[in-house]
Amino acid sequence: MLRYDWRRWGRCARIGTAATVILMLLWIGDHGFAASGAAKEKNGEPDEIEQRRRLYEAVSLRTGLEWHNIAAIDQYERTISKAHPKTRPIRQDAVTGVYISDSRWSGDLNPNKDDTDPLSIQFFRGIGKDGSGDRKADRGKDEDLLYSVAVQVLQRGSSDEDFSIGLWEYYRNTRAVQRVMQFSKLYKHFNRLDLNGHAFPLPPSSNYSFRSTWGNSRGWGGKRIHEGTDIFAHSGVPVRSTCYGVVEIKGWNAYGGWRIGIRDLNNFYHYYAHLSGFDKKIKTGDIVSPGQVIGWVGSSGYGRPGTQGKFPPHLHYGIYRDRGLVEWAFDPYPLLRRWEREELKAMSPKRKPGGTPIH
Ligand SMILES: [Zn+2]
Repeated sequence: MLRYDWRRWGRCARIGTAATVILMLLWIGDHGFAASGAAKEKNGEPDEIEQRRRLYEAVSLRTGLEWHNIAAIDQYERTISKAHPKTRPIRQDAVTGVYISDSRWSGDLNPNKDDTDPLSIQFFRGIGKDGSGDRKADRGKDEDLLYSVAVQVLQRGSSDEDFSIGLWEYYRNTRAVQRVMQFSKLYKHFNRLDLNGHAFPLPPSSNYSFRSTWGNSRGWGGKRIHEGTDIFAHSGVPVRSTCYGVVEIKGWNAYGGWRIGIRDLNNFYHYYAHLSGFDKKIKTGDIVSPGQVIGWVGSSGYGRPGTQGKFPPHLHYGIYRDRGLVEWAFDPYPLLRRWEREELKAMSPKRKPGGTPIH
């Protein structure tokens, strides 16, 4: 039976914070989100996916913008709307996640903020357009919203480069451009919208142990909190992607050691640290699927490149949510338990759940 000195966990607490740009105090506001995690979100339901597909096809047909680019814009908008429900309210029955403010829609100087006349909106330099063919530019209509954004983004042209310039001109935010391009790549690669599956980061049949260590007695005022979950396992146990995503960062970090960061379509950044190594085939910008091996458990970190063995081998796993201009961590523990449960359920019912505890 292996025994680990739990007091040594303190070292790990330095990782998440130092490795990412986070507004530490703001995490409180998002803390409750963990309970409603990614897998539970509505966007996995087949009829909703079907409605979206139809909407993207219609807008694509009218604008010439490829469907995966339209889907990417819509999904990016949805993630930001979800992160800011008060300032970006979305209709209950909306198919699109696009939000456009009334003044941007109708034009800053337009005295009628509810204007639906495409001509007067154009006169006041609003971006609202009629995408449905009823001669009204209606902010309450999915086609009109998505069509209006697509027209703005297409002003430069429709090549990949034009598209990214168009995105920059629309959002004036390089992070937004990067996200939409990542999402577009994912949709194009898989050629479908339903990419919500998840996996537990270690093979459920392997030996591992974890518990909730979120914010573990690290104190607040200027001190670090533990932004993630430590999954203890032997060195060399495969580490797998938990989601469909794009590899955003891969390499050495003084705190996280060999670490890899993967962006998913919920605009979550999945962070895997202390690896003993990476799967050689995986490069930054690559696309990964749930359950795909990306590296192996190790104890790298806390020093110069290659440093290892300063703490027991474990996977530090964190999730950060992009909110447009900043991103911060939320507790991944409930999601980890859910993914573990779901994967075990999908495996043979005879198999004993959970592996053998190692502490
Ligand atoms: Zn940790």
